[in-house]
This record gives sequence, structure tokens and C-alpha cells, in this order.
Amino acid sequence: MRIIVIGAGFGGLSAASLFSRDGHQVTVIEKNELPGGRASVYSENDFNFDMGPSWYLMPDIYENYFAEFGKKPEDYYELKKLDPSYRVFFGDKKVVDISPSLEKNYELFDTFEENGGEKLKNYLESAGEMYESSVKEMLYKDFTSVSDFLSGKLLFKGMKLNILESLDHFVNKRFDSDEARKVLEYSIGFLGSSPQKTPSMYHIMSHIDMTMGVFYPEGGMRKVVSSMYDLAVEQGVDFKFNEPVKSLEIQEKKVNKVITSNGEYDCDMVLVNADYAHSEIDLIPDKHQSYSNKYWETRVMAPSAFVAYVGIDKVLDKLDHHNLFLQEDWSNKFDKLFDPKKAEWPDSPSYYVNIPSRTDSTASPEGTDTLFILVPLAPGLEDTEEKREELYNMIMNDLEEKVNEDIRGHVVVKRIFALDDFKRRYNAYKGTALGISHTLRQTAVWRPAHKSKKVSNLFYSGQYTHPGIGVPMTLISSQIVAEQINGNNGDNK
Ligand SMILES: Cc1cc2nc3c(=O)[nH]c(=O)nc-3n(C[C@H](O)[C@H](O)[C@H](O)COP(=O)(O)OP(=O)(O)OC[C@H]3O[C@@H](n4cnc5c(N)ncnc54)[C@H](O)[C@@H]3O)c2cc1C
Repeated sequence: MRIIVIGAGFGGLSAASLFSRDGHQVTVIEKNELPGGRASVYSENDFNFDMGPSWYLMPDIYENYFAEFGKKPEDYYELKKLDPSYRVFFGDKKVVDISPSLEKNYELFDTFEENGGEKLKNYLESAGEMYESSVKEMLYKDFTSVSDFLSGKLLFKGMKLNILESLDHFVNKRFDSDEARKVLEYSIGFLGSSPQKTPSMYHIMSHIDMTMGVFYPEGGMRKVVSSMYDLAVEQGVDFKFNEPVKSLEIQEKKVNKVITSNGEYDCDMVLVNADYAHSEIDLIPDKHQSYSNKYWETRVMAPSAFVAYVGIDKVLDKLDHHNLFLQEDWSNKFDKLFDPKKAEWPDSPSYYVNIPSRTDSTASPEGTDTLFILVPLAPGLEDTEEKREELYNMIMNDLEEKVNEDIRGHVVVKRIFALDDFKRRYNAYKGTALGISHTLRQTAVWRPAHKSKKVSNLFYSGQYTHPGIGVPMTLISSQIVAEQINGNNGDNK
């Protein structure tokens, strides 16, 4: 088949290689100048910033993907296990390191509360079992009906998990201290969700970051993107950059042409990796859309983000590679992110600072640091220069106080990327950074489908679809679609 892939994010790159491997003629059409999508690169004055993902988690999932081609990630890039995995600055100024050694983390949890280490051990055992079951029974499977999902072995597999229990409730039942609760809940941010709204089965995130560990691909996430791009080119995929898709021509329930800013492409099948909501609302005529505008209006969107890419002419010794600043009263801040009625720009928010130059000499010149500062923002907020500067200074005030040194006086590169940039650069619905959130009603069978409900040769992969948000999940989403195409030749009539 002649397959057009719209978008060269991880979802598009990974699907294109699989289709090409399977003998199809594949063209990827991307609106921006680079592959990688949310994982774009920004370079200025020898400072190189990964604009999106910075945590390389779940190395097994990357391995599974490369194995599809008889390859290993190490054929393309080297991985380093970070030690410490990450550093946590609590609001009260306490600072702790989460280690790749579980023993050390048990000792740390003993300082948080009585029997903290033992409780963590039990928690991680449960998270580990759940992870194994999820990989086997859930992540690689496309659920087509609710009963299919509920009757799966996963949810009942000796876990005694209440599907309706929130992660917050699950954690609070087991841990008393604020520190333990925060360390076990922060990672839900990776899923664009809040602990109160996310099902407890997602406690697998603690297995992922604590038991499996946190890795860094040498050369940054941009090296993973360029590897995936090289793999696609090796497989024979053709790429068009700087060419936004404008519409799909659909006749008799089939897409037969993709119309772009530069021309038209005949096709037998289309895989959309571009934001699902954008493609439905902006590229497909109303009567062929699988979901109504109201459907999109009522989804719980994952947050947008304020990201500052800052290069400084000195090294911040007190910071490690990954640094989380978790403020004291964080739970009532979640409302401002997820409840559209309460949404507003944050005051004294929790935030994350990534310093890849701590590990990677290609990130910035010697004796300097690259700072990637991220604050989650509610999607759909009004975005103004004044709001951005106010938030930048709010975070810098806090950061300078925590590290006890001047940073703003040493800035040589500064770029802020926020809500409106997500819309402009990625066509992100409401400026979301991550697509739709992982609430229970937006998990597995309840995520937007891989196959169009109306158009027989139209498919989707990427963070909106099952299994969801994060680079490893987007790789799996493409593996699911490639399987389907092999099964039914792209025709789901
Ligand atoms: C700031 C940030 C930090 C993150 N941190 C992590 C992390 O640490 N670890 C992790 O695993 N994940 C992280 N994520 C999530 C991860 O980056 C995403 O889940 C994943 O990259 C999404 O890939 P995708 O292919 O679904 O979408 P995208 O990457 O958005 O790809 C879609 C592509 O479609 C293109 N496109 C859109 N419209 C059109 C059109 N009309 N025509 C042609 N092309 C179009 C876009 O330009 C884009 O290139 C982070 C995301 C962000 C934004």
C-alpha cells in the first residue's frame, strides 16, 4: 500500500518504520523542520536543549521496539543509568536523593516515617507485579470493547485492586508522611494527570522510576529521535518536512488523497500522528469525524506547560540531572490544572529543573549549564508575555533561594515556550503538552481509537491513543497499529 503518515513525532516515526518493514511504500509528511515532534531541539550559542522529553524510562519498551527490526537501542545510542535517579527539594527546604539502589531508598523512607522502608518494599512489590501484568495483558493490546477490558486478567490478577480507587487514596492508606506521599505521587505528572483522578493501577510508575531506574541516552533525547529517523530511512521511508497537511479527501468512506501546503498525495492508507483533536476538527470533514467537537470539549486534557530553556555561564553545583521542587500545599494546586472552572496561572507552583549538562558534554560548553525549567499549566489559559515573565521570575526567585546563588545575572540564553507555542508548533488542542489525561474514563478502551470509526483506511498512533502518554507508550501505539494493518490490510469495513 501507499501509506501517508501525518506527523514525524515518535508516533509517526515508529509507525513509518514498521509499515516500511512490512513492505509498504511510506511517506511521512511533517509540518515542522525537524523530526521528533514534542521531542524537538532548540540550539543557540552552543547550548543544545531537548525541548520536550528528558526522562528515558522503561528501557524494556524501547528494546521491544528495536527488536522488531532485529536491533537493539545500543546499536544506535548508549544508555547511562543516572545516580542519583533524581533529587527532590521539598517545600520546607529538605533535600533528598532518590537512588538507583532500592536498599538506599528503603533507608531513606525509614527517615520519612516509621517502617517507611518496609512499606516502600511492599508498595514496590505490588507495583512490580502490576507492571509485569500491564506489559503482558494491557499495554500491547488494543481493547475494542469495555467488557474486553474489564474481563482482562490484568485488573484482577491477585492484585485485589479496586478499579475505582484513586492513586491518592491508595498511597495515603499506605503512607503517613508528606515526603513519602509526594515521592510516590509526583510521577503521575508523566501521565498528565493528578493523583486524585488517576486509577491506583498507575502505581506502576514507582516501579518504573525506582525499581527500573532512570536512564540518559548519551547525546540526549535528540539522539533517540535521530536514531529513530535513521532507522526509518534505513527501512526506506520517504520524508517531507515544512509541509503541513491541510485536509484529507475522503470518498466512499476512504481517504484517497492527502492535501498539503505544497500539493496532493494519492494514498491507500493514512496514519495520523498529528494531534488527534486537530486532525479531526481541522483536517477531516464533519461527517467523517469519529468524535464530535463536544467530545473533545469534554475530555480531561493533560496540562500544557511553561518551559524555560536557559543557558547560564556557570555551573549550579547544588542541582543534579533531574530536580523536582515539590511545594508544601501541592494537592489543592491540582484543581487549577484540571478543573477548567478553577484554571488559572499558578502562584508558587511545584516545578521541575532538568540539567542535562550535568551528564552530557554535548548539551553546553564546559563550565556552563543548560537549565530546562518546566511548570505545568492548565490547557486553554490565556497566554501573554507578562504572564510568562511573571512566572519566570516567580520560579527564579524560588530557585535562587533554594540553591542560594544568583542565576539571572548569569543567563546567556533564554527562550520561553508555553501554551500558544504548543498550539503554533504542534497544532496542540488547547495548547496541551501531552494530549488527553489518564483518568479512568480515558484509559485503554476509553482512549480515542486507533482506527477511525467512519473511514475504513484511516488510523491513529501517538499519545492520544492507547496506551497513552510518554515516548515508550507512543512506540507501543504504533506497534499495535502495525499489527492491525497486518491483520486486515488496513481495511476495517
Ligand atoms: C515538555 C514535555 C516534556 C515531556 N517529558 C517526557 C519525558 O521526560 N519522558 C517521556 O517519555 N515523555 C515525555 N513527554 C511526552 C512525550 O514527549 C510525548 O508523549 C510524545 O513525544 C508524543 O509523541 P507523539 O508522536 O504522539 O506526538 P508529537 O510529538 O506531538 O508528534 C506529532 C507530530 O505531528 C506534527 N503535526 C501536527 N499537525 C500537523 C499537520 N497538520 N501536518 C503535518 N504534521 C503535523 C507535529 O508537528 C508533530 O511533529 C514530554 C512532553 C513534553 C511536551
